[in-house]
Amino acid sequence: MTLDAAWAVDWVRRSAATVAEHRDELVELDRQIGDGDHGENLDRGFRAVVAKLDGLDAPPASVGDVLRLVATTLMSTVGGAAGPLYGTAYLRASKSGAATELGADGVVALLEAALDGIVTRGRANAGDKTMVDAWTPAVAAAVEAADHGAPPSAVLAAAARGAHEGAVATVPLVASKGRASYLGERSAGHLDPGARSSELILVAAAEAAAA
Ligand code: ADP
Ligand code: MG
Ligand code: MG
Repeated sequence: MTLDAAWAVDWVRRSAATVAEHRDELVELDRQIGDGDHGENLDRGFRAVVAKLDGLDAPPASVGDVLRLVATTLMSTVGGAAGPLYGTAYLRASKSGAATELGADGVVALLEAALDGIVTRGRANAGDKTMVDAWTPAVAAAVEAADHGAPPSAVLAAAARGAHEGAVATVPLVASKGRASYLGERSAGHLDPGARSSELILVAAAEAAAA
């Protein structure tokens, strides 16, 4: 599929579906090292995004329009740490791709902008056991794939694999940002919920591109 506005809509709908499907898993992960609301928060947010998409008179004209709608909706419906973090990620991403169709470089720019937004907002470094630990290897894998001449769909597939590896790698880490940091050493041995939801969202992006 060409990475145009229709792809972005498909990405968002797939994101909503996978977040709904994994809602209880995200709740359980957040129950272990947080307050147990991550799955519920994100599911509520993406349902609201889909409702907004369904209510539009005309299909969105660009990838940026879709991502801006996601950003504003998540910011106003998700709350907690993840709402502003994902909101900022989508807002920055929405400004990265003015083109009507993303090439490999456009995909890299979108992902870099999203990570940039998360870091600007949350001030977490790699290794702090947050969603940054999924996005950082996702961006690195995307850059590498694009440098090797991969087509945009393969760049997204590489990003999804990077996010998976990054999310899994949060398990042994001790959290030093967000609610999980209150647990200190006891946060080790658990997968970070935001890293897991980030992986789900990036897998959805790759699946939409492969469809
Ligand atoms: P809350 O902790 O307010 O209940 P959520 O449960 O929705 O918020 O989201 C928790 C997730 O947010 C964590 O698993 C982590 O990935 C992410 N997170 C928390 N603080 C930060 C931060 N400063 N930078 C990046 N990500 C963060
Ligand atoms: Mg929480
Ligand atoms: Mg909370």
